[in-house]
Amino acid sequence: MPSMKGKIMHIQMQCCGIILMMVLLFFYTRQKRISLNTERAFLRAFCLNLFCIILDIASIIVIYQRERLPGWVVDFVCKSYLVTLVGVALCSLLYICVDIYVRKEDYRKAVRRYELITLGDAVLVYMLPIYYQFDEDGTTFLVTYGPSNLVAFWVAIAFLVANFFLMKKEKNKINPRRREAVLTWMVVWVSAAMLQYCYNRILVLGFACSIGMAVLYLKLENPETNLDRQSGMFNHGALVQYVRQLYSEGAEFSVLAVIFERSFRRNMTRGQLEAMKMEIVEYLLTIQDVFIFKNAEDEVLLVFRDAVRAEEETRSLLSRFDEGWGEDRRFYIRPYWISIPDANVISNVEDMLYLIRDIRQDSRDFSDDSFFHVDRQKAEEMYRKKRTEQLLLEAMEKDWVEVFYQPIYSTKEHRFTSAEALVRIRDEEGNIVPPGAFIEVAEQNGMILKLGEMVFEKVCRFVKLNNIRQYGLHYIEINLSVVQCSYEQLAEDYISIMERYDIPSEFINLEITESASMEEKRILLNNMKSLMDYGVKFSLDDFGTGQSNLNYIVDMPVNIVKFDRDMINAYFENGKAKYVMDAAMHMVHGMNLEIVSEGIETKEQYETMEELGISYIQGYYFSKPLSEPQFLEFISGSC
Ligand code: C2E
Ligand code: MG
Ligand code: MG
Repeated sequence: MPSMKGKIMHIQMQCCGIILMMVLLFFYTRQKRISLNTERAFLRAFCLNLFCIILDIASIIVIYQRERLPGWVVDFVCKSYLVTLVGVALCSLLYICVDIYVRKEDYRKAVRRYELITLGDAVLVYMLPIYYQFDEDGTTFLVTYGPSNLVAFWVAIAFLVANFFLMKKEKNKINPRRREAVLTWMVVWVSAAMLQYCYNRILVLGFACSIGMAVLYLKLENPETNLDRQSGMFNHGALVQYVRQLYSEGAEFSVLAVIFERSFRRNMTRGQLEAMKMEIVEYLLTIQDVFIFKNAEDEVLLVFRDAVRAEEETRSLLSRFDEGWGEDRRFYIRPYWISIPDANVISNVEDMLYLIRDIRQDSRDFSDDSFFHVDRQKAEEMYRKKRTEQLLLEAMEKDWVEVFYQPIYSTKEHRFTSAEALVRIRDEEGNIVPPGAFIEVAEQNGMILKLGEMVFEKVCRFVKLNNIRQYGLHYIEINLSVVQCSYEQLAEDYISIMERYDIPSEFINLEITESASMEEKRILLNNMKSLMDYGVKFSLDDFGTGQSNLNYIVDMPVNIVKFDRDMINAYFENGKAKYVMDAAMHMVHGMNLEIVSEGIETKEQYETMEELGISYIQGYYFSKPLSEPQFLEFISGSC
């Protein structure tokens, strides 16, 4: 009987591999996981690797015991080892496929295809003969060979090559860390196979399998990387992966976001605050049937697979927050709640996070109890906003921004003496998009700064190129949004643009509206001061809309007050409003300021305004806002 001595060391190597894998498995199974498809693919590969090493040892043992065992048992064990070896190569391929085939159906199809090949391989391996090679004295087993071996070898190689090409072809779809980890695993595996092939006394393949798995575990699949260490909840990365998977599977799920921002009372000590946060986290972690995540903005997101459970838990969470926290339950926390009962009103994880961020930033969306419900209508609103953002971005990049001009008539000079510059953008089809569709969005995301500057520059160019004085125009009015006015650099930027175009500052009149906060007002006044020192004049826009009140005129060093269309309409429709406008008019005139009446559409309105002594009239009665060439034609025909 051949001695087992020569092989003892190699079995020890496989045993080391098994121990390593058992240790990894111990840690892996003890951690909290979110049942991602990649986790399942990894676990499948892991178990098959473990099984492969066990069969590796078993095959060596049965070969040395072959005289005591029936021949078919020895063949069966050795062939099973070969089949698992191919299975390991298959698993690495499927692991990559999780990233490539995002749709569940596509992934299943790929799995079925590769499993069928493996099945065919297994049938051939079991049917074809296998031979055993020993050294010259017949005591030490060297290697198995024969057709069975060859089939397993070539199929394994084919899987490895397919894996390699898929990684190259679908580079952009695969998580770069996964690509790197699988490549490392393949290098370890192929090097071990070659080493074993060249020096068939060194049976290292099994051990290499375990090292490969350790690489995948450490680089990618350590469940701890999905955890927020401080709270024990899943982290942002895990949230993105998990929700992305749910969307790709077309699963039904509900989300509840809890936003603690600003809800912690300031009169707590740091210790009390930390203890209370811990208490809340512990409470949240006791909720059943839910995965809890803490996202990049420190919000807590609860993802439920069952809408009914989501509703129940939301109700009990809300009532828990009606009670206090901390010692004696004396601290009350009022977070914002965003509930998305049917997450499928949104189509992907990025949009979901965008929506949550958007709602959080716009606290107007919250009802009194700070609870916001996302339904299909809200989701559609969000998509409209996103489309507007994209359109704006593209329009600014491709210079699809245009300035229209609406002439302003002077009742004293009986001709047009100024115009208001009004921004428009053109969409891809060349249609004009009015500012009502995008100014608010631009203000919310800060794009208004760039857009406003583009408008200002275009007006300066227009003034420069057309010498507006020849048309009898004294100045152009340009709108400034509150966001622009609260930008510290505004005056500096605008002055440098005027200098660049070398236009006299008296041609520019900036329209401001009322700023909400004291801080905004302070910055606005600073900007106004610098620009006025340079020679620019100001108008107060939207007077009579609630945006601008009488006190504001007193505070703001403006030359002109623009009466809004709503106020003018009210004047003609409502007896009482007449008195309000009369009083406002007397006050404004008393302060030696001029008035522009906006939105004058009829002759009757025009005549009334003229009788009232309003200096300037703007409205469709004279002209709608016109494109540059149309405006030049209009104004040259009228002067
Ligand atoms: P606004 O500054 O009060 O401008 C007057 C708006 O009333 C313009 O709408 C104008 O077309 C419209 N209008 C004028 N006369 C009549 C009329 O007789 N009847 C009716 N129905 N409407 C009339 P537009 O161009 O759609 O602009 C809307 C608002 O968008 C502006 O109100 C202004 O607040 C903002 N906006 C426009 N251009 C800019 C810009 O370049 N920058 C900033 N920040 N805001 C702008
Ligand atoms: Mg205006
Ligand atoms: Mg206005």
